[in-house]
Amino acid sequence: MSANQNSAAWLKHIRQDVQSMHAYAIQDSTGMVKLDAMENPFSLPSALQKQLGERLGALALNRYPGDRINVLRAELAKYAHMPEGFDIMLGNGSDELITLISMACDVPGASILAPLPGFVMYAMSAQLQGVTFHGVPLTPNFELDEAAMLSAIATHKPAVVYLAYPNNPTGTLWDADVIERIVVAQGEQGGLVVMDEAYQPFASQTYMDRVAKHGHVLLMRTLSKFGLAGVRLGYMVGPKALIAEIDKVRPPYNISVLNCECALFALEHAAVFAEQAVQIRQEREKLSQALALLPGVQVFPSQANMLLVRMPDATKCFEGMKTKGILVKNVSKMHPLLGNCLRLTVGTPDENARMLTALKESL
Ligand SMILES: *Cc1c(COP(=O)(O)O)cnc(C)c1O
Repeated sequence: MSANQNSAAWLKHIRQDVQSMHAYAIQDSTGMVKLDAMENPFSLPSALQKQLGERLGALALNRYPGDRINVLRAELAKYAHMPEGFDIMLGNGSDELITLISMACDVPGASILAPLPGFVMYAMSAQLQGVTFHGVPLTPNFELDEAAMLSAIATHKPAVVYLAYPNNPTGTLWDADVIERIVVAQGEQGGLVVMDEAYQPFASQTYMDRVAKHGHVLLMRTLSKFGLAGVRLGYMVGPKALIAEIDKVRPPYNISVLNCECALFALEHAAVFAEQAVQIRQEREKLSQALALLPGVQVFPSQANMLLVRMPDATKCFEGMKTKGILVKNVSKMHPLLGNCLRLTVGTPDENARMLTALKESL
């Protein structure tokens, strides 16, 4: 048998749906101004880099993660003002938590529901688990379509409803009363709600102060947009008994000692990151005003560290900006409601100025 025939033989063991998937594409950003992935543009001050290096160097890398993980859980719970009677679990990024939720809720006939356009991992984790995904379109202004959401909840009785608060890729912070009615409806039919607050550092509202009113709501956050995308650390709070069930499907040792220590270090210096978030929010407002003045460009309101903009020809503009060394995200083909839209991550003042110039020249 030739090597070729051998390689064809194992393919029958790979799931058909996996074979027809595309791997999650990460754009090559070498040498570019990277404004495509909602990363915090600021690095750690050099004195802190040195301190962190010493802390990480002294860790027992020969040991599996131990009780330090529980210290981190307690510190995050305090930092996030976790309500009494709740518990907290950690994920290797919130992406892992989303996967674990699909896994834990995979009972026969289960489905997962989220508004679209939204964060791609909700649908992807459902698909990979073999759980049905129901996407409910937002309104053309990217608000929740309350009637459509309530009707889809009544029809499908999903195990889980995801609400990103604020939403990605639109930046929208949805109406609090509409959210409450969706949460109540989902609770009445016996399902769960996950509030995904990945962009909480840039938003004026959080669900944390309302989450304890319900017994079926989980609240998820991540340190990625806070400033530690490279560290991979997400966390989720919820009623103790509910967290205990989902925590059973978590791989042991899913948080490395390095992730854990970096996160603890960041919490000790939370003021540094809070100051960066203030600057990013100010930059977002400046950028939003400047973009709104451009002819033919529509900027949508955002409470995240990104701006969704619609323009006459998004793909032409995206390619033009790319030739000028500016990498943003072309979301125009992601969903019909996103026609001719680009998603711009808010960077440093200098990066934003360069991005704006490149965008103007590429319209
Ligand atoms: C970025 C993002 C996440 C995932 O973050 P990680 O912790 O880096 O896995 C989750 N939800 C939303 C809405 C996001 O935009």
